[in-house]
Amino acid sequence: MGMSTPAILNADLHCHSIISDGTLTPEELAMRAHRNGVHLWSLTDHDVLGGQERAQIAAENLGMHYLSGVEISISWLGQTVHIVGLGFDHTNKTLQDGLFATRNGREQRARQIAAQLHQVGIENSYEGALSFAGNPELIARTHFARFLVDQKICKSMDEVFKKYLVAGKPGYVSHRWASLDEAVQWIIGAGGQAVIAHPGRYRLDDLQMNELYARFKDLGGLGIEVVTGSHSPDQYKTYAKVAERYGFMASRGSDFHDPHESDIDLGHLPHLPEHLKPIWSVFH
Ligand code: AMP
Ligand code: MN
Ligand code: MN
Ligand code: MN
Repeated sequence: MGMSTPAILNADLHCHSIISDGTLTPEELAMRAHRNGVHLWSLTDHDVLGGQERAQIAAENLGMHYLSGVEISISWLGQTVHIVGLGFDHTNKTLQDGLFATRNGREQRARQIAAQLHQVGIENSYEGALSFAGNPELIARTHFARFLVDQKICKSMDEVFKKYLVAGKPGYVSHRWASLDEAVQWIIGAGGQAVIAHPGRYRLDDLQMNELYARFKDLGGLGIEVVTGSHSPDQYKTYAKVAERYGFMASRGSDFHDPHESDIDLGHLPHLPEHLKPIWSVFH
């Protein structure tokens, strides 16, 4: 990396393994990223670092550069927002303890989700979701969604997230995650850099988004995802402008979870707009 960090580097700095809500192992993801031409990779499981050593070893064995990664769930103005951390020391105790506390409420939440689904006639979804979870500490809505598709209650993950598990629908349980301040401080305290994940996905108005950017920047947050599997091409342009306006560095990541579910494969995203500063230019 270092000097050779142009916008056209094939960096994929956002994806998930079976340690959170993806379906491939860290080793399978590393192989897939490498096969797809990725030069710099990061595994960013939700609220957990259990895959970091495996991902790093697998990447380096394939000759890929690796950055440690995580995607932290936070609550911001009543909405869930995701903050990606990159390039930190994954053995940092404060970060590990903070992530443990963040994921700790997931089992209870999953039981409440299942109780609501039971009310609408969907039985045993806690056990069902758990059977799809590679890590019982990290039971996510994704696992419920896979169970509902498997049971033919819905045809697709998209259909699940329209009819269930979201605000106003059966199986939605509001949850208190970490705070923005905590997440950014844990990441920076462990020597890493913080990035706002897929800013186009939040149900926040312009004023609320601007408040998020401003607070994030005050805390030392450095980047936002511009090119992600969660954005449309129009949104690449929108968030390129946000990056310029706030002086954020830009990140790029597929948010790959599964070969069949994910629309964008590892490493298959468009490049960052050339005028933006890539987040990877700060890592040496
Ligand atoms: P949780 O952290 O348990 O709230 O689960 C959030 C996860 O659900 C996200 O990281 C995605 O993997 C998944 N998800 C949310 N919305 C959708 C959607 N519309 N389609 C597919 N997966 C989704
Ligand atoms: Mn996910
Ligand atoms: Mn996310
Ligand atoms: Mn993600």
